Amino acid sequence: MIFPVEYGGAGMGYVEYATAIEELSRIDGSVGLIMAAHTSLCSNHIFIAGSEDQRRKFIPRLARGEFIGAWALTEPDSGSDAGSTRMTAVRKGNSWVLNGTKVFCTNGHYADVLVVIELTDKAAHTHGLSAFVVEKDTSGFRLGKKENKLGLRASDTAELIFEDCVIPEGNLLGKEGNGFIDAMRVLDGGRISIAALGLGMAQGAFECALKYSKQRKQFGKAIAEFQGIQWKLADMAVEIDAGRLLTLRAAAMKDTGKKTTRESSMAKLYTSEVAVRCANEAVQIHGGYGFIKDYPAEKFYRDVKLCTIGEGTSEIQRLVIARGLITE
Ligand SMILES: Cc1cc2nc3c(=O)[nH]c(=O)nc-3n(C[C@H](O)[C@H](O)[C@H](O)COP(=O)(O)OP(=O)(O)OC[C@H]3O[C@@H](n4cnc5c(N)ncnc54)[C@H](O)[C@@H]3O)c2cc1C
Repeated sequence: MIFPVEYGGAGMGYVEYATAIEELSRIDGSVGLIMAAHTSLCSNHIFIAGSEDQRRKFIPRLARGEFIGAWALTEPDSGSDAGSTRMTAVRKGNSWVLNGTKVFCTNGHYADVLVVIELTDKAAHTHGLSAFVVEKDTSGFRLGKKENKLGLRASDTAELIFEDCVIPEGNLLGKEGNGFIDAMRVLDGGRISIAALGLGMAQGAFECALKYSKQRKQFGKAIAEFQGIQWKLADMAVEIDAGRLLTLRAAAMKDTGKKTTRESSMAKLYTSEVAVRCANEAVQIHGGYGFIKDYPAEKFYRDVKLCTIGEGTSEIQRLVIARGLITE
């Protein structure tokens, strides 16, 4: 959706993109997450950091959905502290040799193209990280464990193993040493998509709770007639609308080319936590029926938790927001 028509995209912006992810996630967050990792992480990293040749080679096929994309930053010992990446890329003649393991990579088992962030200069710390494009059948690259998750179970989460994996020199994405900086730019957009993912699931949970509260009768009337239930529904509706405004503000700013680090983090932090609260209340409004799999409330309850963790935990979003406030 977010890539120009001349690269095979739909020529739309983040407002439309966030709206689409919200609508998909209202029914199934896994679909929203698959689209988010493919579009605003993998494809967008190639689009914003790649050379014209790399853009022409990958973006049209990614935009048409002929290729599935994945983006690998997280490692077993490097999550929130992404600068501590250990996986290495060493230059050898006209090639790079990759060694190490990435974890929690969304779409990993199904990806045709992966963007992988690696250490190219240990002494330079975060300025020693670089991004590379790896295609799926490259020798020395194999897929590891498929994670067995609490929720979003229709979205693949993969371990990726690189053992003397040789890729051409030209697969370096952007400037050597710019991988961390580019990854942070990518996350400014990515966090809008996770905000939309949380928003969609919050909306879905709210809608199923509202519907159920009008159908379920106790003490001779629909439970929606009890003030205790009405207050829950009102709070959910207000928080969802506030989250939508934060998300659309970040998306609209991004569409006008503004830096959105703080606004993206605010939207992501708030909607993730709203999603968790709304899914919790949706189960509560369903009573015992919220605890069984016959109703969607139970699935929303499990699925929403990813939003406070993926693309930076709630704690990390607070650090990003506070850093912006303090340094301004
Ligand atoms: C389903 C799923 C899909 C994912 N998809 C991808 C993907 O496609 N690509 C990818 O690269 N990664 C992906 N991730 C990884 C995700 O981004 C990380 O899990 C996340 O950034 C947290 O890292 P961690 O799990 O190592 O937790 P840790 O960093 O070990 O954090 C553990 C706890 O400590 C807290 N903490 C850490 N540092 C601080 C601090 N300075 N101050 C306060 N608290 C702190 C955290 O907030 C958290 O509560 C995915 C994860 C999941 C679960």
